[in-house]
Amino acid sequence: MRVYADNAATTAVSDTAVKAMLPCFQEFYGNPSSLHTVGQEAAERLSLARQVFAKRLNCDPSEITFTSGGSEADNQALRSAAAAGAKKNKRHIISTEFEHHAILHTLEQLSKEGFEVTLLPIPKSGVISAEQVRQAIRPDTCLVTVMFANNEIGTIQPIPEIGAICRELGVPFHTDAVQAAGHLPIDVRAMNIDLLSLSAHKFHGPKGVGVLYVRRGAVSLMNVIYGGAQERGKRAGTENIAGIVGASAAFDEICDHLEENAAKVTVLRDRLIDGLTKIPHSILNGEQEHRLPGNVNLCFEGIEGESLLLLLDQKGICASSGSACTSGSLDPSHVLLALGLPHEVAHGSLRLSLSEYNTAEEIDHILAVTPGIVEYLRNISPVWDELETGSLKHVI
Ligand SMILES: *Cc1c(COP(=O)(O)O)cnc(C)c1O
Repeated sequence: MRVYADNAATTAVSDTAVKAMLPCFQEFYGNPSSLHTVGQEAAERLSLARQVFAKRLNCDPSEITFTSGGSEADNQALRSAAAAGAKKNKRHIISTEFEHHAILHTLEQLSKEGFEVTLLPIPKSGVISAEQVRQAIRPDTCLVTVMFANNEIGTIQPIPEIGAICRELGVPFHTDAVQAAGHLPIDVRAMNIDLLSLSAHKFHGPKGVGVLYVRRGAVSLMNVIYGGAQERGKRAGTENIAGIVGASAAFDEICDHLEENAAKVTVLRDRLIDGLTKIPHSILNGEQEHRLPGNVNLCFEGIEGESLLLLLDQKGICASSGSACTSGSLDPSHVLLALGLPHEVAHGSLRLSLSEYNTAEEIDHILAVTPGIVEYLRNISPVWDELETGSLKHVI
């Protein structure tokens, strides 16, 4: 049995998206900038895709820019807000310690360019408070960027409350909504969001397509890719029509099923959490309440997450330890460290991220094999030996 439980890393492309994309390769293959019929047929599809995102996010199509992915959307959002701030001599940016690296590494770069960055600490719950944001805002703050839901521990941030504070104080507010899109309702107007990033491959669309929403009048977009006049001159390069069409088809479909998918996936998630936290010396990272329907993230004391992943893979289970980007490096996840977990505990982490494609039988399989694997790894672990004999103290 093959169980794909790594949907926070990427998802399978939906049938609906594949069907929508296929004619774009050999029938509507035109360049939307061409004035002839074939070009204009492609331009029409691009325009329809933009309308889908605008309708679903509750904004105007002219406020939507397509990019090469979530990372590019994040880069462009942050760079644009920073440039607009610098013009007014405002060079202070507020974010959080547990953002995706597309945000954190862009902020690192901006700080080398003279911006001052405040990273808000993360409480044990994995949910920051809007009040933390209010306290951090200064007269020279030019941007607040807080992710909608965390990609590792799935905790959902109080976005409407943060949006209200930023609007009240006149500070542009960006949210990386890559993990939230397709799982939680998003209304950029009602939530007072000024800039927002999405990535198609996290909601059953193709890889290599991102969406950047910018509220008209909030921040003027700055190019990160220079060239032709595509995307109103703000993002050069012939548009990835097939990808964009696939992304819009996937988003349209998943937004129609938000509630029923959330209900189904939450049941699967809670069964996993109940079953796996019965393993002794385990802990759920981040609170269960404000959590994405499909996210399970646990630490097991005395084992290495990587070994657990390899043995789970042998049983057909595809999971992750930390994010896809940190797997392969020996550093523990910056998200788990931000929660205050000691290094040795953070190393024993397991993330299972579900989608509506997962089934109850798959959850049974995960629950049947995981406790045995953890026990096996502990039996061969020198650290576990020290924990059990008392020469090291249990932390969880
Ligand atoms: C996946 C992800 C990204 C990056 O999106 P890409 O399309 O892979 O570049 C950014 N932010 C978060 C929270 C993500 O989960």
